[in-house]
Amino acid sequence: MHDKTVAQLTAGLQTGQFSSAELTRCFLDRIASLDSRYNSFISVADEQAMAAARAADERIAAGDAGPLTGIPIAHKDIFCTDGLRTSCGSRMLDNFVPPYDATLVTRLNRDGVVALGKTNMDEFAMGSSNENSFYGPVRNPWDTSAVPGGSSGGSAAAVAAGLAPAATGTDTGGSIRQPAAFCGITGLKPTYGRVSRLGMVAFASSLDQAGPMARTAEDCALLLNSMAGHDPQDSTSSQVPTEDYCARLADSLQGLRIGLPREYFGAGLDPATAACIDQALKELEALGATLVEVSLPHSHLTIPTYYVIAPAEASTNLSRYDGVRYGYRCEQPTDLLDLYTRTREEGFGEEVKRRILVGTYALSAGYYDAYYKKAQQVRRLIKQDFIDCFGQVDVIAGPTTPGPAFALGSKSDDPVAMYLEDIYTLAVNLAGLPGMSVPAGMVGGKPVGLQLIGQHFGEARLLNVGHRFQQATDWHARRPADPAVEAA
Ligand code: GLN
Repeated sequence: MHDKTVAQLTAGLQTGQFSSAELTRCFLDRIASLDSRYNSFISVADEQAMAAARAADERIAAGDAGPLTGIPIAHKDIFCTDGLRTSCGSRMLDNFVPPYDATLVTRLNRDGVVALGKTNMDEFAMGSSNENSFYGPVRNPWDTSAVPGGSSGGSAAAVAAGLAPAATGTDTGGSIRQPAAFCGITGLKPTYGRVSRLGMVAFASSLDQAGPMARTAEDCALLLNSMAGHDPQDSTSSQVPTEDYCARLADSLQGLRIGLPREYFGAGLDPATAACIDQALKELEALGATLVEVSLPHSHLTIPTYYVIAPAEASTNLSRYDGVRYGYRCEQPTDLLDLYTRTREEGFGEEVKRRILVGTYALSAGYYDAYYKKAQQVRRLIKQDFIDCFGQVDVIAGPTTPGPAFALGSKSDDPVAMYLEDIYTLAVNLAGLPGMSVPAGMVGGKPVGLQLIGQHFGEARLLNVGHRFQQATDWHARRPADPAVEAA
């Protein structure tokens, strides 16, 4: 059961091949026996999950089930879950049990999803390797000496290892797409505002966006159908109507124009990864698409722009963690200033502090115009590059990452080398566009991802391209060695 896609599990549940209680037990048992290898979960919700599974079985028996009813999933530990600890990978929130659900959680619950638990992540979603978690690094199921990517590394590893059929993630600069690529799964970062941010712990509010992570594009479409839509409680959530994201999955790609940005295929891209991407593009051509070279001339400015804007927004968002209201509080503060400073000194990790320092500096009175304002101006140019491209093409394609998953510890002392990992993903967030990563090959036994970038609110098109690609290839169907099978 743990090997199946969500779509296959739905069929199994609805035809009575197994119950949600059996399915949920299967995943909980796998987590209990295997996750010590990966460290992909921070909290497991055994009892709540079994109760939700029994409730789902009743709905199925009563004929009141949708496609997600009874399907177990894992939530990134950035989404508030009523009564279940939400740590955001930080000591600061290690003791935080939210009194409410994030809108995304509410919507998935409404549709009968069973939450297995909360997945490990880089602290406050800052990172590309999952090494910045207070709960320790996550290991890549394809190679446990390699990182799973970040910041949604726990979600990606859990799905890849068959500890959950699907998971939620968030993407501020690549955190759904990059771990999806490194772990050989499919991840979709929707258009900014497509999915509510209410109850999702804020990192960089103008960039953060939640989305699905699963084995296939079809499964991502099923999850997006539940997650997407306007939320009156989130003023940045979009009023643009949603659609049935499954309806156009099988559409033909005949005549589809795919733009290949020159800047995404140059120096810095690992040649073996480039060969996989070329092969994937040939596959899309064989399915009827036309490849067109395009240019995103401001690509070289995306890393500096993002690493001003994201830390600036993070520094203001993280000012709320002061030891007064909720979360960590230092022992025996001598006065108010000591309470603030020691709480933050002890509660935040190194990368989070680095971002707070950079962000506070960039926003300070004498430097605001030189850094933050300038970055916002460049952000506009980066967005315009995409708008210009979409005058010529329907989707943009390229690699998700410069290479396959790197070794644990290999970049953790060099923040700039780590930031360079985000070279192909950041611009999508700066422009507010939807982006997706689909498994597209293997390099040295580790997966690599093809990135597809769509027009604003073009999720259905991306899912369609991903689905057709997955019908013609089997990269998404490959699985890492399963220790449970080897032990048997
Ligand atoms: N790796 C990027 C960062 O460290 C993006 C993280 C994210 O998307 N949450 O900020």
